[in-house]
Amino acid sequence: MISIGETIEGPSVALRTVARRRCGELTHPHSGRSYVSKNIELGPNASFGHLPIPSRNGEPEFQVPYAIFTKGNGPTLLLISGVHGDEYEGPVALGALCRELNSNNVTGRVIIVPYANPLALRAGTRTSPVDQRDLNRSFPGVSNGQPTEELADILKRNFISKADAVIDFHTGGIASRWLPCAMMHHLKDKKLLQSTFALMSALATPTALLIDESDKPGMLDSVVEGSGKIMVCCELGGGLISRDTVAIAARAARNALSYFNKPKVDREIRCKGPTRFLEVPNHSWTVTASSDGIFEPFAEVGDFVQKDQPIGCVHALDNLTHMPIVSKSAAAGILVFRRAFGLVSIGTRLSITAKKLEFTSFDDDDK
Ligand SMILES: [Zn+2]
Repeated sequence: MISIGETIEGPSVALRTVARRRCGELTHPHSGRSYVSKNIELGPNASFGHLPIPSRNGEPEFQVPYAIFTKGNGPTLLLISGVHGDEYEGPVALGALCRELNSNNVTGRVIIVPYANPLALRAGTRTSPVDQRDLNRSFPGVSNGQPTEELADILKRNFISKADAVIDFHTGGIASRWLPCAMMHHLKDKKLLQSTFALMSALATPTALLIDESDKPGMLDSVVEGSGKIMVCCELGGGLISRDTVAIAARAARNALSYFNKPKVDREIRCKGPTRFLEVPNHSWTVTASSDGIFEPFAEVGDFVQKDQPIGCVHALDNLTHMPIVSKSAAAGILVFRRAFGLVSIGTRLSITAKKLEFTSFDDDDK
């Protein structure tokens, strides 16, 4: 746990010292003053700080801002966003929450990291402009590795490893569009499955998705799930930022806090209320491009598509006489994801279809 008197972990004492000199006096996680705007009123156990990411080999130095709210004993919840630099709903909603939250509303500890990948956010790119690596494929990270690997390592040691539950706010970014949802993976550990499903349900997003993903290595999700902790990811649309998707992110974050104020896991939680519960059973519900070219979508996220219904086609760029190659839905269901950026290559993910979640809880009797 980060606690009073504890120093945040960086790559080395020497590098941290350099960083302190360059950015002025480093705010201690619980000193709560140096970086705090005058119009923010902090509760007795709220603190704002910046985690320094030192320069090495000429790469730019930067800092990851964070806020910590603590009151009494209880679980630690980490709310994180900005892992990809072209996704904006999470950073906006969590940044606002940092300014509005008071420690008196918290039981236990809440760590908020709205801008996890500042260089990518400033560049407006999914990957880091320094090494072109995807932070969400770089966990658990490498100390003294490539810059993005080192960032992953520092985030993991200082924030992720200290959390009992993590909610990571994403969107489809420039490349993709998701039906706004909270999602979790199929998990073999029954107890973890139940507690994760309970948190995902508590967020009250319009859609909640149980999904089997194929590219889990290096994801933040894998680190958290591998340590037996609760991991929920939000996918809040894609492309341009919108008022509606920011509101979904803000509501999900507040609901998460409310849920952790009453940390009793409700195993009887049911699929009810405004949330639509869907499931992607396996990888075969994903359609990928079989040729290079420009993707033309035929269906929108939220549409119901039949099995073998064309969801789009790819236009070849090198031959005007070739007919576009049509891709068909692998299954009947709701389109929860589609490619948004036109240019694709063989293997690019074009669509994901989901079906209604068959069971409403994870009690033994339901399986
Ligand atoms: Zn993302």
